[in-house]
Amino acid sequence: MIDPCSLESSPLLSIDDALEKIKTAIQPVMASERVVLKNALGRVLSEDVASPINIPYDRNSSMDGYALSSKDINCRQPFTLSLVGASWAGKPYQGAVQAGQCVRIFTGAVLPDETDSVVIQEQVSADRENILFPANTAAYQHIREAGEDIKQGSLVCTRLKKLTAADIGLLASAGIYDVPVRRKLNIAFFSTGDELMGIGQQPESGKIYDSNRYALAALLADPCYSVVDMGAIPDDRQLLEDSIKQAANYNDVIITTGGASVGDADYVKDILAGCGVVNFWKIAIKPGKPLAFGKIGACYFFGLPGNPVSVIVTFQQIVAPALKQLSGATANKPLRLLATCTTALKKDPGRQEFQRGILTQDTNGNFFVGSTGQQSAHILSSMSQSNCYIILPAECKGVSSGEKVLVEPFSGFL
Ligand code: AMP
Ligand code: MG
Repeated sequence: MIDPCSLESSPLLSIDDALEKIKTAIQPVMASERVVLKNALGRVLSEDVASPINIPYDRNSSMDGYALSSKDINCRQPFTLSLVGASWAGKPYQGAVQAGQCVRIFTGAVLPDETDSVVIQEQVSADRENILFPANTAAYQHIREAGEDIKQGSLVCTRLKKLTAADIGLLASAGIYDVPVRRKLNIAFFSTGDELMGIGQQPESGKIYDSNRYALAALLADPCYSVVDMGAIPDDRQLLEDSIKQAANYNDVIITTGGASVGDADYVKDILAGCGVVNFWKIAIKPGKPLAFGKIGACYFFGLPGNPVSVIVTFQQIVAPALKQLSGATANKPLRLLATCTTALKKDPGRQEFQRGILTQDTNGNFFVGSTGQQSAHILSSMSQSNCYIILPAECKGVSSGEKVLVEPFSGFL
């Protein structure tokens, strides 16, 4: 079969070049808003946040036991101290602790000022008010110092961090009620194609269910994005142009699927050229070659291919990093690792391929990957069964079983 790409004269842009062009073109949103902490997961912090307090706030015990002063410890021999009270988590001991005295203490309870050591309860024997400590009792154990996690005034989280569950917990431990975050991106998306029908409709010959819109909506489920699903739009040039122009007025980003190639009903690139600027529209990636990137006024535009696997691959490899940059977050490169390929892989030289693979790890930590089977861009089950991409460089001419390949794990493996 002749690859239509080979008929095109202009060289395709490599993925790295495409990502570089996008990086140069995108200006992150700068506006910010305050959100309460419980709504801040996944949002991008717009300013550094310092702690108003020491964390922990007090010097406290990390174990259940007895608090005492190191001055009272007789290292070589057993010794006895008299019990004068208890310090509970939430109910500190109120009195003073004199020489020869100790206090019952529980995990998280404040250490009385005069004490600096905790001996765990399993090591002592109690005879009413007399607590017997064994020989070789160690001083300064089981203490959490005030500020040993975060000192008052030092940073809890740095700006441009996309907040994780741990960050939310940490900010809460500093008593921070709300945080400044970059505003959400407004993203509109729609499918194109005369053949598309909604998933409530009866199947009929010549029609297909519009799966891309569902996959895209799922891919766009991120607290930083406010998305508008514009539905499926037929292959009508005027209708498409009107929809794109209108969406560009109200959104930061438009994402379309289908109609981005060179067929007679593929209008997306021409519309973008007519009402905006085309930055590029073909990249050396498989699946997913026809991918238009540009701008209409202040709105960025991504015209993705129609084939369902191409949509997911190009979204994850090209659009997702772009959206992350636009949202203000620091974009990290995806985790990639080497694995031994357990199946032979077919590949023609020319484009970087993202084949779908199943990654496993043996008990020694060695990685193995096998193909999911058929790799055509319409075989969406290959995407669903996979837990990683097998990334084959443009010049690669195929892989034999036993060779090492580069893989990018994603959901289901990580
Ligand atoms: P196109 O890029 O418009 O030529 O579409 C390429 C292939 O993807 C064709 O087989 C389309 O029927 C299919 N396709 C396009 N849009 C969708 C969609 N929203 N859901 C599922 N398949 C689609
Ligand atoms: Mg189409």
